Amino acid sequence: MALKFIDEVEVQDKVVIARFDFNVPLDKKDLSKITDTTRIDMALETIKYLLDNGAKKLILMSHLGRPKGKVNLDYTLEPVATYLANKLEQDVVLTESCLDRGIKTLLTLNESKIILLQNLRFHPEEEQGNQEFAKALASYADIYVNDAFGTAHRKHASTYTINGYFKDKAYGGFLMKKEILALSKIVEKPKAPFVAIVGGAKVSDKIKIIERLIVNVDHLLIGGAMAYPFLVAKGFDVGNSMCTQDDVKLAKKILMSSSKSKVVLPIDHIVSKEFGGKPEICNTVEIGGDKMALDIGPATINLYNEKLAGAQTVLWNGPMGLFENNDYAKGTLAIAKTLSEMENAFTLVGGGDSVSAVMQSGLADKMGHVSTGGGASLEFIEEGTLPGVQALRFGIDLN
Ligand code: AMP
Repeated sequence: MALKFIDEVEVQDKVVIARFDFNVPLDKKDLSKITDTTRIDMALETIKYLLDNGAKKLILMSHLGRPKGKVNLDYTLEPVATYLANKLEQDVVLTESCLDRGIKTLLTLNESKIILLQNLRFHPEEEQGNQEFAKALASYADIYVNDAFGTAHRKHASTYTINGYFKDKAYGGFLMKKEILALSKIVEKPKAPFVAIVGGAKVSDKIKIIERLIVNVDHLLIGGAMAYPFLVAKGFDVGNSMCTQDDVKLAKKILMSSSKSKVVLPIDHIVSKEFGGKPEICNTVEIGGDKMALDIGPATINLYNEKLAGAQTVLWNGPMGLFENNDYAKGTLAIAKTLSEMENAFTLVGGGDSVSAVMQSGLADKMGHVSTGGGASLEFIEEGTLPGVQALRFGIDLN
């Protein structure tokens, strides 16, 4: 069954309930201030489409932070309501809770076209995926839209269970559509040559993704602290670089697989005597006893550029070094630059810190797709789909 998106349904005069990811960072000193509105901005296309196409009422829902099932006004969606009202130039009514008795009345009034339900996670039932809670949310609307790709890996009431109450009336929003189409290009039949670049800090967090990718890729370039367990597994001394015995075991497993020749590791490094200390070049794979590697070196950048040349599909997850510190950001920025210049390839940057690096470098719009789904993007690549996406496509059986 094909997944349906909102541009395939008539929304005129319908009451629509739509799940977004408005989980924006707030200023720690002034919780009424949003420090980065990207997530709300990404939802505007779907919201505007629904309004422009005549939806009778729009009920928006999201979580914010981790209030752990209790009302905690530090996590009120009030700043989101204010920002949305400004952007849409319309009133946005924030309810006191998702189960407010007044909601049914609001739905009968001509005014209050846009209603934002208060933080879903003020209710423990949300994260439990509770059916009664999902049913109550569903009772407000004629159709359901899920545009919260970033939470589609969770089986929560508003992202998963609710689909059971909207048989053939559940649709993906535009952000969901963009993410699924882009990630599917990597997961289904990536055009060869396919190169994956995996960096960041912990092998254990990325082992599944590596195991999945290594089958399809032509080259798997490993950078960042991820590289050192692999170098140790190959018998090199990496000095004081970040490396645990557990990660070495996982690296050994990959290096014993039949695809081991696809793994490409750093051949030189930028090192320091202390974390974030004065940088030095180390021209050899092996790193002296009192040094730690904090970035890939210039010869490695050249080697990785050679492997990337001519690729048709590139996936990048995780920085090549301690990129938050300028002294150790060169490897990460070099990869960002190379990808930004690969006009004939489909380049996808997915998950966490490589996304921040690409945003900081100002090269985001030069990439084929920058997936902002964090954990959801990684899980999609690992599993080929997500619970929230499956539920949209097939519905769920309620017991
Ligand atoms: P991850 O969340 O697994 O993608 O890891 C990202 C973090 O790994 C970033 O904060 C980087 O600064 C850090 N990182 C990358 N390479 C290194 C390295 N060589 N040594 C220490 N930390 C690193």
